[in-house]
Amino acid sequence: MVGSLSKVGWTFVMVLFCGGVSQAAMPKDAGGKGKEYEPGELIVKYRPGGKLHRGELHRRHGSRKIKEFSSYAMERVKLRAGTPVAEAVREFESDPEVEYAEPNFLVQALVVPDDPSFTPLWGMEKINAPAAWDMTTGSAEVVVAVIDSGIDVNHSDLKGNLWVNTLELNGRPGVDDDGNGIVDDIHGYNAITGGGDLTDEVGHGTHVAGTIGAAGNNGLGVAGVNWNVRIMTCKFLAASGGGTAAEAIDCLHYVAQMKRRGVNIVASNNSWGGGGYSRALHDAIAAQKDMLFIVAGGNDGTDSDVTPTYPASYDLPNLVAVAATTPADSLATFSQYGRHSVHVAAPGSAIYSTAPGNSYATHSGTSMATPHVTGLAALIKSARPSADWRGIKNLLLTGGNPLPALAGRTVAGRQIDAFGSLTCLDSRLFSALTFPASGTSGLPATLSALSINCDAPLGPVTVTLSSGVLYELKDDGIFPDPVAGDGVFSASISPTRSNETFYFSSPAGSEQVVTSAYPTPFAAAAP
Ligand code: CA
Repeated sequence: MVGSLSKVGWTFVMVLFCGGVSQAAMPKDAGGKGKEYEPGELIVKYRPGGKLHRGELHRRHGSRKIKEFSSYAMERVKLRAGTPVAEAVREFESDPEVEYAEPNFLVQALVVPDDPSFTPLWGMEKINAPAAWDMTTGSAEVVVAVIDSGIDVNHSDLKGNLWVNTLELNGRPGVDDDGNGIVDDIHGYNAITGGGDLTDEVGHGTHVAGTIGAAGNNGLGVAGVNWNVRIMTCKFLAASGGGTAAEAIDCLHYVAQMKRRGVNIVASNNSWGGGGYSRALHDAIAAQKDMLFIVAGGNDGTDSDVTPTYPASYDLPNLVAVAATTPADSLATFSQYGRHSVHVAAPGSAIYSTAPGNSYATHSGTSMATPHVTGLAALIKSARPSADWRGIKNLLLTGGNPLPALAGRTVAGRQIDAFGSLTCLDSRLFSALTFPASGTSGLPATLSALSINCDAPLGPVTVTLSSGVLYELKDDGIFPDPVAGDGVFSASISPTRSNETFYFSSPAGSEQVVTSAYPTPFAAAAP
């Protein structure tokens, strides 16, 4: 373990480093490979107005509601004993009240075994956090939600930066003082037990939290990207390091409720993945359009443009997928990448941060890269309180530092840079995002591209086909453009050839895409 590390002044020289790192409790990576699901359970999305008949539906199927997610008109459902999940999906989907039903997929913390051999806080230095800290070290007014394995609420480097539900803190033990259905959710919510106990049995959530917001300048252990921030925790990864899509949705539902109550939540950190395409999880993330969903890109070392991984590959405006870099400015060998689907990179190899029991540990994974990005989102918000998720997302990408190893492998081609984001004046970024696969001649298709300068959209954006036909892409929030003013410009087209060349162009840059050599970027397979 590492000895005392002074954070005062942030001059990195050498840090005493003696001894190994315990990996015993850390889960093995399962990013994106499996499509396992919880036996005997479904996630069911109901059509609007059908609530009266849900009880009757459950009687008919011999099922029962485990948990309702009212924000999304969804339920986690327990099936009659012995009912095969695939059969239950078909039965529920044949019901007119049901919009869709799917297995409750299993997900995993995205951490890999590592061999610590670098200056412990190299990541903070690499993203120019010390320079940014001359401008801001964060704000207690800014809240981030860590959706993970819990947190050590007694950790000396974390306890001052925990979000506090004051009604519960000042209320009576054992009583749901704020009336949200959860007893004693003082610092967050435990979606496994339905209570407020956030005990971290894995160490993963505590590690992530420290990178986002370990208290700085307190003469202890480490500093996070923010020295001041408020961390709300939602625990859904169990001692195994695994959880289910339904529990992740339960966490998003909790976060959404608190946002509606006025808590200034800027982003959620999601250092986990795996399982199949979950329409329910997709829809729950999409519903949180006023917050960023910052997510680990996955640890399979593969191209996510070709092999999507979830939730990182959901094509949603408020999602930021993160790749992991090493101290040598290369892409970590385990890190997934994607020219059109993984947005940005951050340090994720041999990252030193907080661990349960008031201790510290070094871990690697896109799990560890993600909280650098989430932390920077919070730091940007502290410097620009009026910025919304659109401007913050764009500053994460445009403020970054271009690295050769990331060119052609991420949307931004950049590693985040805290100083660059806070001081951005003129930094343009252009990237084609969606375009039709080959063989789609005659079928309408969507084109989209990111075209931004610092926090703002930068148009006009055009696409010229090989025939010379020109389309203008719009960032107006009118179909097929999902959101106005986020810098993603969209248009519907009707290709006349199956082998098409799309020439994207804007004042921010240009890109040529030949679709015959390229599969559909975000193919959504039914479970
Ligand atoms: Ca409560």
